[in-house]
Amino acid sequence: MVKLNYKVKHIRKNKYSRPGFKLLRLQAVTEHWTANYGATAENHFVYFDETIIQIGRYAGAHIFVDRFQALELIPLDEGTFGANDGGTAGLKLATLRATDSRYPTIDGEGNANLLCIHVEMCVEEDGTIHPDTLARTALVNQYLQKKFPQLKDTENRFVRHFDVTGKNCPAPMVSNPSLWKELLRMTDAKVVVPPSKPAAIEPKEESTPTHKTNWVRSKVNDLRYYSKPSWNDKHVAGRLPKGYGFPQAVRKVRVEDAWQYEVKNSKGETYYVTTSSKYVTVEHTPATSTAQKPDKPKPAPKPKGPKAIGRIKIVKVKSAAYVQDRPDRKVSGVLGQVKRGSYLEVAGSVEGKNSESGYWEVIYNRKRGYVTGEFGKYEPH
Ligand SMILES: [Zn+2]
Repeated sequence: MVKLNYKVKHIRKNKYSRPGFKLLRLQAVTEHWTANYGATAENHFVYFDETIIQIGRYAGAHIFVDRFQALELIPLDEGTFGANDGGTAGLKLATLRATDSRYPTIDGEGNANLLCIHVEMCVEEDGTIHPDTLARTALVNQYLQKKFPQLKDTENRFVRHFDVTGKNCPAPMVSNPSLWKELLRMTDAKVVVPPSKPAAIEPKEESTPTHKTNWVRSKVNDLRYYSKPSWNDKHVAGRLPKGYGFPQAVRKVRVEDAWQYEVKNSKGETYYVTTSSKYVTVEHTPATSTAQKPDKPKPAPKPKGPKAIGRIKIVKVKSAAYVQDRPDRKVSGVLGQVKRGSYLEVAGSVEGKNSESGYWEVIYNRKRGYVTGEFGKYEPH
């Protein structure tokens, strides 16, 4: 029988994961999965108490549930950054929009984090949510309902992260809504029994196995890899030419809104690289012992050329600006670099993500690319 086994172990106050602001009121519980394969509640304590401060990322949740325990990391009357992560579709759930002068939001849409306790379900090595974790989450829900009577209306007071912002979280309960219903049903049950079937097979896209012999190989030139689980420029450890890679994928880790493989090179050193199938392939048969080139790179498909409306001069950068393959600094691959003072044809501009100055849509080697707005000075044709 699964027991609640609820422990309180608060992380230190810090601006990234425990900013210390009080909830305006407690209106709902938002449920997540960690998407961090094989990491326990205790592992997440370390992550949110230490790692997150080192890497400077804003995120957090109150309670982490795994097969063995439920761990409260943040006092339940405080808020944290759990569901206003600049998610994929803005704030969906109108009832969870709160505004407060102390915590203004960029778009004025309101912030669910002022109203929510966040609960994270830990994930097994194979990407499933263990039946005991699921059962324990139901017990946590019941515990919260006892403590905060306004949460008794399970159907309306417990929501998925997906319901709040549209983010694919908890992914197994987005791809399989009946599993979500199952959790709500268990929350309302008098006796919580773990489901007998393995819970929550993750969706296909994210099920790339990461066995120890898996090569991770770059599909593009200049693919960044990192010394830490981070997208930050300062943690870039190097760049992979097309066809090169790492002989060992250890596991997948979630880094902000995207994923990275933790990989090892042939010397056993650990690095991090995107999991996006756009940029890397994972091969199940190990190749020879060091990074090597594929036989013959396929010629790039001829793009239907975007039309130039003018050009930009590369300015403000120290030596060269990166041309990205998409308008999001944090998750893009690098198509190449363009020296300061040189020119690029421009097809338009887009807002993109993670750049206050937006991005120029440029034509680079006859391909569409993106350059951070402030690094280009526009000249119409
Ligand atoms: Zn989430």
